[in-house]
Amino acid sequence: MALVDVSELVAGRRRGLMLVVSSPSGAGKTSIARGLLARDDGITMSISVTTRPPRPGERDGVDYYFVDPPTFEDMCQKGAFLEHAVVYGHRYGTPRAPVEEALAAGRDVLFDIDWQGAQQLREAAGEDMVGVFILPPSVEELERRLRRRAQDPEETVRYRLAQLASDVTHWAEYDYVLINRKLDTSIAALEAILTAERLKRRRQPGLGAFVEQFRRTPG
Ligand code: 5GP
Repeated sequence: MALVDVSELVAGRRRGLMLVVSSPSGAGKTSIARGLLARDDGITMSISVTTRPPRPGERDGVDYYFVDPPTFEDMCQKGAFLEHAVVYGHRYGTPRAPVEEALAAGRDVLFDIDWQGAQQLREAAGEDMVGVFILPPSVEELERRLRRRAQDPEETVRYRLAQLASDVTHWAEYDYVLINRKLDTSIAALEAILTAERLKRRRQPGLGAFVEQFRRTPG
């Protein structure tokens, strides 16, 4: 159950917010994002398009839309992406249409994208975007998690570890920073961020009309 009922906020013709979660690879952002989605039915996950081959168990249309490079390029040319970037040697992009539909309907959208995508969304969306950066508790723990995933070849793990130093430099571009020590605590923290952002005055356009009823009380 969400702490704030989004359907009530929608009554005030609320526009949805864009919750962007980024982190170095292996910091646990995907698990945190999944945890939030399971607890809150007012937020929808944006499913990205990628040229990366699927990992074992990943499903097309659920984890990503897996496409070949010419298809990705064609989508790019047609302006089908809200943002796109090369990450760890593959192309990734956020399809524009589902996001715009959800936001217009007053639903919030969750993005698991890298710092390049977050920068592009910030430029396009300004204050509609809320950025959360997730850090691992230590280098050792990050390496353990990357290896435990055990789905990527050793060279991929090493390449992603090598990117850590430059990935973390982007923490200061985000509104919130979480150190992911314990999954449950991190999910609760992300839920708290979402709740607070939903309750911001400027995100409740129906408030003026709601408050009006109290001004009409007798006496
Ligand atoms: P992975 O290959 O491990 O699923 O993702 C690699 C990185 O690409 C992660 O940091 C993830 O957040 C990022 N990513 C996934 N989808 C997108 C997207 O649509 N746009 C951008 N800019 N980054 C993405």
